[in-house]
Amino acid sequence: MVAITSEDCLRQGTLTEVEPTIIPRDAHPISRRDISDNALKVLYRLRKAGYQAYMVGGGVRDLSLGREPKDFDVATDAHPEEVAQLFRNCRLIGRRFRLAHVHFGPEIIEVATFRALPPPDDDVAEGERVIDNGRIVRDNVYGTLAEDALRRDFTVNALYYNIADFSVVDHAGGMEDLQGGVIRLIGDPRERYQEDPVRMLRAVRFALKLGFRIHPETAAPLPEMASALADMPAARLFDEALKLFMAGTGLSAFEMLRHYGLFEPLMPLTAEALAEEGSEDWIPFIAAALRNTDERVSADKPVTPAFLFAALLWPAVRRREAELVEAGEAQVPALQRASSEIQALQQSRIALPKRFSIPMREVWTLQPRFERRGGKRARRLLGHPRFRAAYDFLELRAQAGDASQELVQWWRDFQDQPEKPPSQKKGSGSSSRRRRGSRGRGRARAKDGGEGGAGDGGGSPEAGS
Ligand code: ATP
Ligand code: MG
Repeated sequence: MVAITSEDCLRQGTLTEVEPTIIPRDAHPISRRDISDNALKVLYRLRKAGYQAYMVGGGVRDLSLGREPKDFDVATDAHPEEVAQLFRNCRLIGRRFRLAHVHFGPEIIEVATFRALPPPDDDVAEGERVIDNGRIVRDNVYGTLAEDALRRDFTVNALYYNIADFSVVDHAGGMEDLQGGVIRLIGDPRERYQEDPVRMLRAVRFALKLGFRIHPETAAPLPEMASALADMPAARLFDEALKLFMAGTGLSAFEMLRHYGLFEPLMPLTAEALAEEGSEDWIPFIAAALRNTDERVSADKPVTPAFLFAALLWPAVRRREAELVEAGEAQVPALQRASSEIQALQQSRIALPKRFSIPMREVWTLQPRFERRGGKRARRLLGHPRFRAAYDFLELRAQAGDASQELVQWWRDFQDQPEKPPSQKKGSGSSSRRRRGSRGRGRARAKDGGEGGAGDGGGSPEAGS
């Protein structure tokens, strides 16, 4: 027997409305006091003009959990043009997914019109909706609240707070999953990932953000479907990568992504370098970078993608550099070339804007200059605008045995007293000895200064400015 779900009925048009669970005001913790004044303004004005108006998504989810939402999203049956007529401070945005943004100074309230569910057949191009190979490329066909709820990603993201009576409307069992701590896709997980592969990253992100577990059926397709991320727009993956790595749980994100096979399509070159024999020190290196970033985030210190991506890609840069050196290229030009190549190749997966990719490469290419300390060189390097970031990076490398502790100590002393350059120990401080001419084996660990650095390399603010 094939069970017919309410979703099927909605799709076939045999059902216009599914019976939702309505949670009345006194049975949920969402209070208007916790909703931003601007979001309330938008909700009330829509309602006054005769439209339905709901707060939806992260706002309802986070307030239900007693957390502070990042922003407030609104869903309505008013079309974007109709929303624009109600608000002077409104801009219509998006082609793939048309939306109204209502601006209040720095705060933007995103107003989305209820979307209809995609039809069951595979490829359609009806102007306002384009589905290509099961992937939703454009979605501007409007529908009812019930349809809108079921086309959202996770049950906990499909709760609607009704400004008309302050109740919460639940079409997908989101309240139960909120209470149970479960991230669960609505509908058939494979189909939903196929429609939009970025949902795989969102599953990980919300699980980490909320401390929830991913439901086994939602998690099951991840490893085999992960590769679909490879052809997502690189700009969108950049946004998602930032949300994953720079939200204070970057280390756990790295681990969870690797667990589900999602890291590879995001950073294939790093994944390759990590899989190589003799590369086991790179995991602690990346872990240290992410841990530092997490600590900075929780201490409200600035972090920059430039430093973080410098660390995430460094194993790949070093691997390529070693290959070039092995082929006879000199160390410094090899690093230059490896840096450009890796950055260019990575760009097709995660589009790093220039304001981050330029300082990222600078952090890499400054590394050999730490080893040349004679004459005026050290002082000149100290005065380099990217010195601090590059030095923090050197410390990180030393923690992973990719640079010597003696070198780090020398620069620490030199920064304290630049008028008195410390003396150099003979024969120490070369990071280039590592793997020189022997890709993947014979990695000398620099042990001369003990473990750990005192710096906070997690993301020098300078590296992104
Ligand atoms: P936060 O803003 O805290 O990151 P959020 O849940 O508000 O979390 P947004 O990306 O702001 O996430 O999206 C708002 C809502 O839009 C989501 O809660 C979800 O209901 C819906 N949504 C967003 N992206 C998708 C997607 N790729 N597929 C289906 N629904 C989505
Ligand atoms: Mg949101």
